[in-house]
Amino acid sequence: MLDLKFVRENPELIRENLEKRNTSADVEALITAFDKRSELIQSTEALRAERNANAQAMKKRDLPPQERQELIEEGKTLKQRIAQSEKELAETEQALQELADNLPNMTHPDVPRGSAESDSRELEIVGTPPVFDFTPADHVALGEKLDLLDFETAAKVSGTKFYYLRNEAVYLELALTRFAMDILRDHGFTPMITPDIARTQVVAGIGFNPRGPESNIYNLEGEETSLVGTAEITLGGYYADQTLPAEDLPICMAGISHCFRREAGSAGQFSRGLYRVHQFTKVEMFVVCLPDESEQMHQKLLDIEKEIFSSLEIPFRVLDICAGDLGGPAYRKFDLEAWMPGRGDQGEWGEVTSTSNCTDFQSRRLNIRYTKKDADGKKERGYAHLLNGTAVAVSRAIIAIMENFQQKDGSIRIPRALQPYTGFDTIPAAP
Ligand code: AMP
Repeated sequence: MLDLKFVRENPELIRENLEKRNTSADVEALITAFDKRSELIQSTEALRAERNANAQAMKKRDLPPQERQELIEEGKTLKQRIAQSEKELAETEQALQELADNLPNMTHPDVPRGSAESDSRELEIVGTPPVFDFTPADHVALGEKLDLLDFETAAKVSGTKFYYLRNEAVYLELALTRFAMDILRDHGFTPMITPDIARTQVVAGIGFNPRGPESNIYNLEGEETSLVGTAEITLGGYYADQTLPAEDLPICMAGISHCFRREAGSAGQFSRGLYRVHQFTKVEMFVVCLPDESEQMHQKLLDIEKEIFSSLEIPFRVLDICAGDLGGPAYRKFDLEAWMPGRGDQGEWGEVTSTSNCTDFQSRRLNIRYTKKDADGKKERGYAHLLNGTAVAVSRAIIAIMENFQQKDGSIRIPRALQPYTGFDTIPAAP
């Protein structure tokens, strides 16, 4: 959520930002609700002061009966007016909240304009897509042939867009998770395994609208909870309602969770197999830091993602995501797209990680603050900046490994850095 005082004072900046992001929100109505709330806060306070004066007056001992009666009547009226005013204030507050929820975060000045995929800026390509002297297969065909993936039984047992991992694929998932976690531990992240369910309030605080018709989140019936779509939710909720001393920041957490996504309406060739599924495992990075550190921390999260995919020998490109594709909470977002030889007709880039600097957009709702002493020893307080990034989204990393490292003889080579974790260097060809 944006700072509403900032919105009230800078409506033109807000309108420009909405236009940049190719989205709309009712800024007029928000300003009206903001002003109404300010008036109601003042008038309710004035009524409370009157009620206190009335109560004081009643305390006088030798009040003539007529005067006492008048004070009693006045007290009753004041009570009713305060109740009415408080009710109106609560309704206005809620309307204001709802209008504020439609406003996205502000946008970093360097973010490319536009809302088409091609409007995102390619920053670099790392590695070289492999050239095969045979026709490469996609991961679905490889998975079936080598008895690594079973979509058919999963469809019967759980539904479409689910899968069983089998045999070496199981060790590949465990290896990728551990491999990423070890790298993050070496970078000073606290390893965590998070709950896969979170309260609706936390889910909304992170910026997902769990009850919205287009929500990607599964809600649990009869409960104010949801299955998490990402550990960003549970890691973000970890420090909710806390004020953290500046000396403790930045806090870097690495969380393993399952991720559950409804993915309604997504089908087609580019969502095939493991690419867009209802459940996958992910190692997520999450950072709580001071406002003046967040750009540097964002670069660090991107560098770690690059380190992980370079170590895995997977060719990838880095994108600076365009304004229209940022999603509400992100101020700036970088994606890595790995080369996937089985994607499309001749291979294609496919998103494998995403890192966002959400500045104070989420911490305002989650109420995560910092305190800091300035040079004169005066205490400064504010909302912390929050950042997230994918270390490894396992199902997509498995696609990249299976498709890039398939061999002519039908086997799959395991990247060298992963071999100590898998315990094998090759997934053998089918007999
Ligand atoms: P997000 O939290 O949406 O930024 O996603 C983080 C990463 O998870 C993406 O970069 C993808 O690699 C992966 N991912 C997102 N959605 C899915 C899905 N439905 N199935 C598999 N992987 C996904």
